[in-house]
Amino acid sequence: MKYLSTRGGAERLTFEEAVLQGLAPNGGLYVPESIPTLPADWATAWQDLPFTELSFRLISLFVPPTEAEGGIPPEDLRALIEKSYASFRHEDVTPLHRVSENEYCLELWHGPTFAFKDVALQLLGHFFEYFLTRRNAKSTGAPHTLTVVGATSGDTGSAAIAGLRAKANIHVFILHPKNRVSPIQEAQMTTVLDDNVHNLAVPGTFDDCQDIVKALFSDKAFNDQHHLGAINSINWARILSQIVYYFAAYFALRRAHPTVDPSRVQIVVPTGNFGDILAGYYAKRLGLPMERLVVATNENDILQRFWATGRYEKDPAAAAGDVRATLSPAMDIQVSSNFERLLWYLAYESSPGPDKAASAGQQVAAWMQQLKATGAMAVSEAQHAMACRDFCAERVSDDETRAAILRYYRGDDKSDRKSYLIDPHTAVGFEAANRVASQHPQIILSTAHPAKFADAVVSSIAPASNENEANTFFQTQVLPKEMHGLLEKERRVTHVDIEPSEDKLAALIARTKEIIQRDGFQA
Ligand SMILES: *Cc1c(COP(=O)(O)O)cnc(C)c1O
Repeated sequence: MKYLSTRGGAERLTFEEAVLQGLAPNGGLYVPESIPTLPADWATAWQDLPFTELSFRLISLFVPPTEAEGGIPPEDLRALIEKSYASFRHEDVTPLHRVSENEYCLELWHGPTFAFKDVALQLLGHFFEYFLTRRNAKSTGAPHTLTVVGATSGDTGSAAIAGLRAKANIHVFILHPKNRVSPIQEAQMTTVLDDNVHNLAVPGTFDDCQDIVKALFSDKAFNDQHHLGAINSINWARILSQIVYYFAAYFALRRAHPTVDPSRVQIVVPTGNFGDILAGYYAKRLGLPMERLVVATNENDILQRFWATGRYEKDPAAAAGDVRATLSPAMDIQVSSNFERLLWYLAYESSPGPDKAASAGQQVAAWMQQLKATGAMAVSEAQHAMACRDFCAERVSDDETRAAILRYYRGDDKSDRKSYLIDPHTAVGFEAANRVASQHPQIILSTAHPAKFADAVVSSIAPASNENEANTFFQTQVLPKEMHGLLEKERRVTHVDIEPSEDKLAALIARTKEIIQRDGFQA
């Protein structure tokens, strides 16, 4: 199994190369050259496997069994997967919780940082360490190292730090906008005191952080010197590891609801960069029965508008380069980076051939060029129809998000529903699910624990009692014990201090480079 860029070219990478490289040099994302075939008896043979074994079976389909092929021998792969999910607090890793007769919630937040990104980043950290260690065992020259640099508005940073802390041959630098991430998120990042973890507080916005990171990655000399690595959701290993919980949910649903017709089940995914739901698309392509995937967006609705029109267009109403700040900040995006992979499949399937991959690459490169130049692109009618067969999309406002949190907390608007507290991202999913509900079961993916978004949750449920009671309830019933005292723990953070200057971004980039030179691997 080789990997190719969504923007075409002759490049064919091994799994190892695709994981270490992250983004293709032509700006594309890596996709597998083909969709593997499941064993004929998967639906029975896999039905009672524990999560880690299911993960092993699925990931093995995409990862060759030898080092020579850029893969991982089976016993090593199994060990990496087991280590990754040993850090989860629930024995099912991603348990399925029944909320009402036909509503099932797949809880993806039982990992170290209480958000779904742990599922992927725990494993990605182990893959990075494994590949570097293996390369170093064979080389006599300078050790292979990786300097991971990433920008975060909260969730990605803490999950990346939890996945990379104390890993050999890796330093991780995470840039966050100073005083603009939630107190819990800031504490989750900065109280990790391992020597290889560096939190950089940037006096600016999340966009400034992203601009700094982009500048470092496009600085070839700096990149060559430090071997920069990316942890954002375009890394193929992140998508791959997430396919597993769609299968786990399918089996759990069949156990809980034996009369279910799986081909009528909708799976609803709170969506930002399209990484989580893209894994569901791969599950569907592999043959997992489902009716369709539901894209649930917040007010940053570029994806919802794509499904309505076939046009993928940056929000014309938002100021240039802006996202709308919503109650579900991890879904505040202007464009969705992983959507490019779906576009590749739409182009591939509609290509007349003979070389479908080559023409898909050309088509996607042209689309992305157009998006960059004009802020918009459109697929053909046939391609739009194809996208609508596998997906539908709903946009959920902040007011609707609050109302959904309150409704599920009360739990009494449907006779068979019990109280269930959800975070604002998950609430976007539940609201979308309600709109498209039929008489068949739905699976809603829950992407974060409600304690991570205390302000939004407490203010949403306050009408059910009052602010004081809501706060007490939150402190005593919601806050997990792992978060008790977190805000008071020792912290380490590096401030990216700059002198006032004409060109603030240039000064921030220069200062960030100095910090990486000083605190990272010594050249
Ligand atoms: C990252 C994140 C999302 C969005 O996931 P994508 O893969 O970017 O679509 C949703 N909810 C939470 C809590 C997240 O951290």
